[in-house]
Amino acid sequence: MKTVLSAIQPTGDMHLGNYFGAVKNWVQLQDRYRCFYGVVDYHAMTMPYDVQKLRTYTWDLITNLVAVGVKPENLFIQSLVPEHTELGWIFNCFCSYGQLTRMTQFKDKSQQVREGAKEEFISVGLLDYPVLQTADILIYKADYVPVGKDQEQHLELARDIAQRFNAQVGKEYFVLPEPLYTETPKIRSTADPTRKMSKSAGEKHYINVFADEATVRRQIKSAVTDTGENPTGGMSEGVQNLFELLKSAGDQKSHDDLMQAYQSGNLKYADLKQVVADALVKLTSEFSERKKEINADKKRLKDQIKASSADIRKTAQQTLREVKELVGLMNV
Ligand code: ADP
Repeated sequence: MKTVLSAIQPTGDMHLGNYFGAVKNWVQLQDRYRCFYGVVDYHAMTMPYDVQKLRTYTWDLITNLVAVGVKPENLFIQSLVPEHTELGWIFNCFCSYGQLTRMTQFKDKSQQVREGAKEEFISVGLLDYPVLQTADILIYKADYVPVGKDQEQHLELARDIAQRFNAQVGKEYFVLPEPLYTETPKIRSTADPTRKMSKSAGEKHYINVFADEATVRRQIKSAVTDTGENPTGGMSEGVQNLFELLKSAGDQKSHDDLMQAYQSGNLKYADLKQVVADALVKLTSEFSERKKEINADKKRLKDQIKASSADIRKTAQQTLREVKELVGLMNV
């Protein structure tokens, strides 16, 4: 079985954008690949963050991932596998400073920090995190990494580091990881469909995967459909987003019927919203139910994750031992 590596930062609530755009894909990939899924708490420290919340967010994310269908045995917490940071250091010495400063995400995120903070503080961690990400991938000798457009440059960096490493040690040790392109939708904010659904924009801009029924219905009911100006005369972004949500939630039949109604000019947006809300509530209530079951025995999941992290760590330790040998470090 080929190996897949993917990771997600523990930064708070999981919303429908995260689920439809990333996590649902994780669930599906589990049947076809040996998957390593990391909750990457070290990465979550690279942007300004709240030390009181990181650990809670980490466990919450684990619970949320399992509640939506990720298998606990595929999950690990990055800081419980310290070999990632050790390999990250080694890779720092196989990566040029210039290449890191040219990363678009570094530029974007440092801009975000500048705009959001009273005093400007951009950590070396923010500059360096693509190197740690390279270690996350290569330590499991991943064949594939599911990527969206925004992560392509980082995977390219991982391939460059692997190549430089191989050249320097004179051996094709690391397999170059390949991108795994999977079609994932981009979900927009229902409150402002010109922007993507995101936590950073505030509560009304995202729908929590575990929201109660009334909240989901209220958020869909108040979804912006027509924003006034629509120069192309085509379907507005808000309506497109409602159709996207319906399709993503799995109700293809209603999607197609309502699309036909739209095309013949007979669609009432209130009807569309009703169907979208029904489909989402079906999903969110299943997930909430599952989360309640997990939370009824929290210790069980904690034990499972500690065990899976320890198990996954064995693979990481093996790679690190081999790498240390190759680069001339002590290995005892
Ligand atoms: P947020 O913007 O809410 O902080 P993250 O940036 O932490 O979310 O994203 C975590 C994962 O979810 C990433 O793989 C990202 O591509 C995906 N994702 C986030 N928002 C959306 C969205 N609106 N539509 C589709 N995918 C999304």
